[in-house]
Amino acid sequence: DSTINKIAAGEVIERPASIVKELVENSIDASSSYITIEIENGGKDLIKIVDNGRGIPHDDVNKAFMRHATSKIERVEDLNTLNSLGFRGEALASIAAVSKVKMITKTADELTATEIIINGGNIISKNPTSGNTGTQLIVSSLFYNTPARRKFLKSNQAETMAITDLINKLAIGNPSIRFKYINNKKTIFETTGDGSTINAIRVIQGRDIVDNLIEISYKSPYFSVSGYIANNNVYRSNRNFEYIYINGRYIKSSNLMNIINESYKAIIPINKYPVYFLNFEIDPSKIDVNIHPSKLEVKFDEEAAILNEIGDYVRGMLMKKSL
Ligand code: ADP
Ligand code: MG
Repeated sequence: DSTINKIAAGEVIERPASIVKELVENSIDASSSYITIEIENGGKDLIKIVDNGRGIPHDDVNKAFMRHATSKIERVEDLNTLNSLGFRGEALASIAAVSKVKMITKTADELTATEIIINGGNIISKNPTSGNTGTQLIVSSLFYNTPARRKFLKSNQAETMAITDLINKLAIGNPSIRFKYINNKKTIFETTGDGSTINAIRVIQGRDIVDNLIEISYKSPYFSVSGYIANNNVYRSNRNFEYIYINGRYIKSSNLMNIINESYKAIIPINKYPVYFLNFEIDPSKIDVNIHPSKLEVKFDEEAAILNEIGDYVRGMLMKKSL
């Protein structure tokens, strides 16, 4: 029922960036090594994702757009499954319900690709076509059938910024995948996909940040952390440069961000935000994730002790290397 689909879509698709997130994560799940993301007008008019992943077999294409029977999961033990739980198997159905979607997909075994067009949740056509192995998804006219929701979107510039921030985080977190990002026909960046985090940071954030990074690596019985923190030559006026991953997946943790911020403030008390790229490896059974798509908030067992340890370590590294 398309009304149910539209309502459900509202819960999970707040804005173009949420669509980009789900589609790129699908491409990552499909073992792609090259993902192109193209947007126009903040993603309101066009979001196009092209990957070279495993593709969807012709006979499974319709199923990919059907809402899966949803189990109400409130808690995930295994952060590694977070990805496919973002929309609990509802992403494509939700996106197709509120936009015009065209997918072209082909598996390595197939000779011809499949093209399917769905408008507002209704299948318009499904035909064989030519195409490379992988999946191409074009989402246009977002919220064309729910005008109130379209009006609620922010400016093109604000929506673009949210998408850019998200793609930055996905690309730096997946350095083995080559990401190309195009906004209004202009290529913003293309990473190398050579597996080097620092190369991805250089392409996306530039030399002035890379030249001021301190490499860190720390192991404790409860967790380990590795990555880069900027020394005290580099601060930013917003929090978009605070990259935290847990077990390779980008997350938000206000507690982690605050403790790292305090470590910087202990060195220089200024009203700006630090720059860092950190991956924590933590036993998934010790992590609590609120999986509501808009809140990737994470908590862990023994949080206070872990946070203290991280704060001490970061402060120590900054004192040693920054001054
Ligand atoms: P979920 O990812 O939670 O399973 P989605 O609605 O995002 O739900 O996707 C539905 C299904 O469509 C996926 O499980 C996958 O089998 C298939 N799919 C979606 N995008 C891609 C892609 N880019 N490459 C290959 N398969 C895909
Ligand atoms: Mg998905």
